[in-house]
Amino acid sequence: MAQSALFIIFGGTGDLAYRKLYPSLFRLYEKGYLKDDFAVIGTARRPWTDEHYHEVVMNAIADDGHESDRTNSELAHKFASHFYYQSHNVNDTEHYVALRNLADKLDAKYNLKGNRIYYLAMAPRFFGTIAGHLKSEKLITDHGYNRLIIEKPFGRDLQTAKDLNDAISAAFSEEQIYRIDHYLGKEAIQSIAALRFGNEVIGSLWNKAHIDNIQITLAESLGVEERAGYYETAGALRDMVQNHILQIVSLLTMEEPKAYTASELRDRKVEALRNIKIYSPEEALQNFVRGQYGEDADHEQLDYRHEEGTDENSQIETFVAGKLETESPSLAGVPIYVRTGKRLAQKSTQISIVFKDLKQNIFANSESDTKLAQNVLTLFIEPDQGYRFDINVKSGEQSYGVMPIHLDYHKSAAKKAKVPEAYEKLIHDALDGNRTNFAHWHEVAQAWRIVDVVRKTWDKQDADFPNYVSGTMGPEAAEELLRRDHRTWVYNPKR
Ligand code: NAD
Repeated sequence: MAQSALFIIFGGTGDLAYRKLYPSLFRLYEKGYLKDDFAVIGTARRPWTDEHYHEVVMNAIADDGHESDRTNSELAHKFASHFYYQSHNVNDTEHYVALRNLADKLDAKYNLKGNRIYYLAMAPRFFGTIAGHLKSEKLITDHGYNRLIIEKPFGRDLQTAKDLNDAISAAFSEEQIYRIDHYLGKEAIQSIAALRFGNEVIGSLWNKAHIDNIQITLAESLGVEERAGYYETAGALRDMVQNHILQIVSLLTMEEPKAYTASELRDRKVEALRNIKIYSPEEALQNFVRGQYGEDADHEQLDYRHEEGTDENSQIETFVAGKLETESPSLAGVPIYVRTGKRLAQKSTQISIVFKDLKQNIFANSESDTKLAQNVLTLFIEPDQGYRFDINVKSGEQSYGVMPIHLDYHKSAAKKAKVPEAYEKLIHDALDGNRTNFAHWHEVAQAWRIVDVVRKTWDKQDADFPNYVSGTMGPEAAEELLRRDHRTWVYNPKR
């Protein structure tokens, strides 16, 4: 059903708005989810006119790819006519009065029923100021819903995250806050629950009696690109582990929710994160390793410290691998190995569930031939989407040999193209008031508790960087992390 809402996008001239928000809103419009009763106010400091803003929105749709001729269609023009631009400095109280007047005018013109979605596509240091002004200058309506969508990074550690949360909570309740973790908008991540709780076979094996270990890899092949300014203040631990990886860990290790509802799911995920052991500084050093990329083997790519905007002695990690321990009732003792980094051998996000060795191999015909390959269930998240299950079958030779094969399912390109992009799904959910795929404050806070000790321990001593060659899967220490447990990374591409 078509929704009525006013979007106020702070940071309307920025990269996120251009690349993700305008195309996503257009897709929702194409599908009829937004129709006549919606409007968008884009705000930022630049003095744009509405006409110029319409052009920008049309270009954003064109640059989004698919079906290039749709850009100049009547539909695209009609869509862009719902966009209004208001030049605005978020620190200036008077500007909020102008914004409120425009919002009220559009509310009446488009029959928006007082429903407002404030999208903060801006640096988090502005969140508190914006939220405070939205309240004090009475942009928040009392006759419709008011929802605040915010982006990562949500703080730099637990304390700054708390400060940020207190600042926005002064104007919005937790139920009104939609914290985006775009991994939660990905189809394959949303499928984890279906896989675990929609299959008797898989669900009944998903426990410490059967699972040997869990591995999560979020590998990027690109380097820091144009983001050095931000990255120098963040690093891989804050940028990827605190949010995306720990969200995935919570979905993989949570107990079964009673129903697939936002509140049930949130409770189980919070519980799952609280079950992850918080390490002492000594344990953090033993269980987490960091890396920073050097040149590639052919000396064609720059090392991190020579990228534009980085410090020549930078101590920022572009790679993290870690071992997490859970105390969850069903998975206690099952190690969770996580890994993420830039300039790795291949771009891929995947999860491997490695099952235990057989207790007894009745097919062994010599002493050295006692071990069969472990069953491994792999979830491909991106760019490939699909599943692989490694099982053992008869080898087909005369003697009774056993060999591993892969049962593979990969989504076709056509099927993938039909799946809505993460931002489209998340904006759709926010319009629906469905918070299932947004991060709750308790999740964010617990994730900071888990990574803070690692960060603080690392900050106390310099690392010997760079320590991995671009185009490999990270430093040797990441291999050693598993080797000492007599394991190896399942995903091991060579460039
Ligand atoms: P950007 O620098 O491209 O855009 C920032 C916007 O804020 C611009 O529109 C700018 O005019 C506006 N702005 C800055 N100071 C202002 C002020 N005082 N008053 C009014 N407007 C002001 O940044 P971005 O890449 O669009 O990212 C926005 C936020 O989203 C950041 O917090 C970022 O970390 C987060 N984020 C971005 C992406 C992405 O793909 N770009 C992905 C995830 C998270």
